[in-house]
Amino acid sequence: MLDARVGLARTAGRLSRRLGRGGGTSLPGKLLLRLQPDALGRLAAGLEDGVGLISATNGKTTTARLAVAALRADGRSPIANTAGANLSSGVATALLDAASTRPTPRTALFEVDEAALPEVVRQLAPRVLVLMNLFRDQLDRYGELDRLVEEWREMVAALPADCVLVVNADDPSVASLAEGRAGAMTFGVDDTSMALPSLPHAADATRCPRCAERLDYTAVLVGHMGHWSCPACGLERPQPTIRATEVVLDGAAGLSLTVEVPTGAVRARVALPGLHNAYNVTAATAAATAFGIDPTTIAEAVRSTDAAFGRAESIAVDGREVVVLLAKNPAGANETVRTVLLDPRPLHLLVALNDRTADGHDVSWIWDVDYEPLLGRVASVTVTGDRAYDMALRLRYGGFSDSVVHVEPEPERALDAALASPGDGPLYVLPTYTAMLAIREIIVGRGAAAAFWRDGR
Ligand SMILES: [Zn+2]
Repeated sequence: MLDARVGLARTAGRLSRRLGRGGGTSLPGKLLLRLQPDALGRLAAGLEDGVGLISATNGKTTTARLAVAALRADGRSPIANTAGANLSSGVATALLDAASTRPTPRTALFEVDEAALPEVVRQLAPRVLVLMNLFRDQLDRYGELDRLVEEWREMVAALPADCVLVVNADDPSVASLAEGRAGAMTFGVDDTSMALPSLPHAADATRCPRCAERLDYTAVLVGHMGHWSCPACGLERPQPTIRATEVVLDGAAGLSLTVEVPTGAVRARVALPGLHNAYNVTAATAAATAFGIDPTTIAEAVRSTDAAFGRAESIAVDGREVVVLLAKNPAGANETVRTVLLDPRPLHLLVALNDRTADGHDVSWIWDVDYEPLLGRVASVTVTGDRAYDMALRLRYGGFSDSVVHVEPEPERALDAALASPGDGPLYVLPTYTAMLAIREIIVGRGAAAAFWRDGR
């Protein structure tokens, strides 16, 4: 029975791709799961080396991309959902696509949406599970952050004994999920030279996951991630198994780092800017280490991996360099602001704010983002998207003058206006998720970037 359903679902995928609707990256899986809700486990049953899953609010696409590159460099051909279709339907579609691949793949590595994760974990019984971070994101879809942490806690309690759990030591609630679990690995950034002076306004989880007391930080690195401890019950950041000991940021161009693992060190320069990407590389190193890959192979893979679209990818558009930095929630937006500030030149920005389902309908999060450090550094900000006027208002309250901020709700006209801004630096585009898709479509239409569902396959 499975075969007929699989055939039907695959046909739907080909049809969908031909019609150009979203690359057909999740439709076949959606169909299959409707016909057979437990299909995921069956599709993955033949994978001898098991499945790896990576989840987080921020950074899962980049991290999965790096970890998949490490598996490939190790001579494996993992099934992956590199196009970012990270709900169970996207995972099912990737497994369906691979079902006819020869030789038969032995492993799979997926990035999974944080709310979809518990069900995907239940069905796939992963060999490796990497939990990176939880930030406030699209509250109208997920409800309370605390509830998500509790769902993850129940999920971890039910994990098979042979699953290697990998958690971020620097995210208090995520780190606490590994408490008492045998064989768990932790990762974190030990280098505190880029620490923030204080917790940003958008910091979410600064209460002790055990006793709810306010946490102390000796170093705040990204959002609420850093070196933390509880003054009341003594719970503290665990010493990471996998740790970034030396991180050197090279402007908006990338970073160099050393990640120490139990069997050696990964030293690499990557074309991914900002401290949040040091976390992504460290998490990917942890994932690859959990799969038994040696540090030399990991370093080789990390060095040669470029950015996913919208994650600091640099593209030439009409003769100007364009760098797209997804900014879909307060913590992510704060990191993009920090990243563009690494460029010493006068800055030209295109900020694109949409409020569709994938973005979250509530855009009030922009009031939690610290845009003010950009004051005096920005030569022009073009604001676009469904909620362009909300963003313009936010910037106006932040002290940005009308001579700097230009509003153009229609994205293509906005892109053209922003590209025409005088100056030799790149145009930095800071979009929400669906705004990123819209801008990518315009750029692809001009022949400047590959269509994303072919990306990385
Ligand atoms: Zn405590």
